[in-house]
Amino acid sequence: MIVTMANDDIHQGGCLCGAVRYRAVVGESKTVTHCHCSMCRKASGATFATWAEFPADNFEFTQGQPKIFRSSDIAQRAFCGSCGCQLTFQAVGDPGGVSKRIWVAVGSTDRPAAIEPTHHIFTDAQLPRLRMDDSLPGSPRQLPWIRTDDDLPRRTQRGEDAIRQPALTAAGHGNHEGGCLCGSVRYRAVIGDTKTVAHCHCGMCRKASGGTLVSWIEVATKDFAFTRGQPDHFKSSHIAERTFCGTCGCQFTFQFIVNPAEDSEILWVTLGSTNRPDDFEFADHIFTDDQLPWLHFDDQLKRWPDQFPGLRSDEGLARRGRRS
Ligand SMILES: [Zn+2]
Ligand SMILES: [Zn+2]
Ligand SMILES: [Zn+2]
Repeated sequence: MIVTMANDDIHQGGCLCGAVRYRAVVGESKTVTHCHCSMCRKASGATFATWAEFPADNFEFTQGQPKIFRSSDIAQRAFCGSCGCQLTFQAVGDPGGVSKRIWVAVGSTDRPAAIEPTHHIFTDAQLPRLRMDDSLPGSPRQLPWIRTDDDLPRRTQRGEDAIRQPALTAAGHGNHEGGCLCGSVRYRAVIGDTKTVAHCHCGMCRKASGGTLVSWIEVATKDFAFTRGQPDHFKSSHIAERTFCGTCGCQFTFQFIVNPAEDSEILWVTLGSTNRPDDFEFADHIFTDDQLPWLHFDDQLKRWPDQFPGLRSDEGLARRGRRS
């Protein structure tokens, strides 16, 4: 069938490393949800997920194949096995469900600015300190006409169990633990009062996580350790390396790698992968030059157009590289 369609209705996207690419054509329904559920945080490491609805028949992978993580009895998530980027969410094996739809991670699309969100969902789980400022309608759980795995916690214990990870260390000031949605990889970190938590709006963080916002917590490397499993590593540029779960894709850390002596002292941990994300105060927005036009905040945080002054920036380098 030949259908005349505007180019604007065709979306292409893929992950940061470029191994997996897809194409999707907008259908009748254009629901785009900011999802604040804990499963999406733990799957991506992003601070929340933003999902765009497409008819499943209008979506195809055009390069490479993603890894599939069955996040519950009724849903699966596709992500890049080489860099971890979340790509899609889809209901499976649920006769009452919505397998005719596929939800695409907006952060993985090539033109995220063109995909306007329509709703906030799972606002019951929204981080209280995340001061988003828009007039979109919100739902405490999933939208009433859509069923998902996080909406059926009693039917599908697996993902929820992964989130309720028991503490390895005494809970207390400064002691933090985290890990991914599937539970394969966990870490421990001691994070003091001098922590810096920055919302990063850069395009590389979007394409690494599939999310539209990744918040990073600065940690001294000596105070951080993986305590179960080992993450996969992805060198996202010649100056930085990211780690992620090879089984579910969750992003864990970012670290500069240019000058081993100096760079090895500090790393950055994703807020979305921590077990108690509510504990952290945000301090800054970075790479606001890349902030999506529909993402608004009502906060007094410092805003930096690029990386923090004095820090290297692979996104800055990438941008300069693209220009040259
Ligand atoms: Zn990739
Ligand atoms: Zn995992
Ligand atoms: Zn970033």
